Amino acid sequence: MRKRIAIIAHGGAGGLNYPRRRKSGLNKAVKAGYEILRQGGSSLDAVEAAAIILEDTKIFNAGTGSYFNLTGDVEMDASVMTSELNFGAVGIIRDVRNPISVARMVMEKTDHLLLCGENAIKFARFMGMGYHDPKTKEKEHIWRRKKAKCESNYFKKIGDFTDLYGTIGAVAIDQHGLVAVATSSGGINLRLPGRVGDTPVIGAGTYADRHGGASATGHGEQIMRHLIALRAVTFMAKMPAKQAGKKTIDYATKFGCRCGIIGLNKKGEVLCINNTKAMSWCYIKNGRLRSF
Ligand code: ASP
Repeated sequence: MRKRIAIIAHGGAGGLNYPRRRKSGLNKAVKAGYEILRQGGSSLDAVEAAAIILEDTKIFNAGTGSYFNLTGDVEMDASVMTSELNFGAVGIIRDVRNPISVARMVMEKTDHLLLCGENAIKFARFMGMGYHDPKTKEKEHIWRRKKAKCESNYFKKIGDFTDLYGTIGAVAIDQHGLVAVATSSGGINLRLPGRVGDTPVIGAGTYADRHGGASATGHGEQIMRHLIALRAVTFMAKMPAKQAGKKTIDYATKFGCRCGIIGLNKKGEVLCINNTKAMSWCYIKNGRLRSF
């Protein structure tokens, strides 16, 4: 039995508004996940528990407190993956409290990898998830303010409107050396209805294999183009986690991909890096908690 348990979480790679609320949400999430790992629980249970806490913490852009799309609706994306290559995801799901748990159900209860839209909601209801309105006053206010600034050529300039990345993610390694990743997002502010970001796309926002796991946050279209999470895990197969993070972020920067990445390799080494203004993160390793 391996003893090297660890968990890391991020709260998005945008600016650090409300740092205290961010820090306390992240601390609570990793502590809950770590407790599961300490008691011999699985990395999958640990990242789901951490992600649920973050989805329920309104400051983050995931679950309750997700950003609104252009027409004022909340459409959420989420995914989970394990180092055994199991994967499950939901795209543009509405009216559920914890998209991450629906993603896990897709992974465990179906033969599919990704369910989207109305039918993802129907699946969630079929699996017993009730109605929940994830809209908050705070995010509605941001939406109103930003929408007022929209110009007619907005569609080609969405990058200029989206400096507030607040997706959440968690990566854990359990006593058996299994790695799991969870990523959940309300997408980017003012996106077109129906837009799916990097979060539920395997290899883009989330990836894990026997070498480790990674979760990305930032400009989803660019993260998808450059398969940032897969790239980080692939580098972790060849070099220490810190160096793998540096290589990935250098690559992202070279191609104008604004993002942040967290990860753990199979030894429990931490990867935590970003090329955006800031990124909120927190991890527990060897029983010690560190945060941004
Ligand atoms: N990556 C997310 C998306 O583009 C946004 C974020 O990280 O907050 O959907």
